[in-house]
Amino acid sequence: MSMMRELYTQVILDHYQRPRNRGKLEDAELEEHLLNPLCGDEVTVCATFDGDKVADVKFSGRGCSISQASASMMTERLVGKSREEARAQIEGFKAMMIGEREFPETDDLAALKGVIRYPSRIKCATLAWTAFQRGLGIR
Ligand code: ZN
Repeated sequence: MSMMRELYTQVILDHYQRPRNRGKLEDAELEEHLLNPLCGDEVTVCATFDGDKVADVKFSGRGCSISQASASMMTERLVGKSREEARAQIEGFKAMMIGEREFPETDDLAALKGVIRYPSRIKCATLAWTAFQRGLGIR
């Protein structure tokens, strides 16, 4: 299989073409912009909170389909989570992307599994997650 075909699975294409939670939030309490100069990707994530829970998450940016699809998947993942749960989700995902943890087969995120074999693209997949992590005050 070609690299392109392997990387751009149906799930990734779907999130890239119909991004979930794309946009900005007027009263964002978390906002973080991050670049991936290796690929030219950029993403801004923002969130509002209801007490400790993530009330709303949006992302904007441009770049390759991996970076934008992964950002879209992340927004769906983090809504409703506490800060601690969000931190754990992000760390778990990043552990999967460096091969330290298995991708659950039934999870949409498993669509990004093929990226692991192309180390130069891993940063594309983790960009939005790292931005959110920084927004949470984790460096
Ligand atoms: Zn990229």
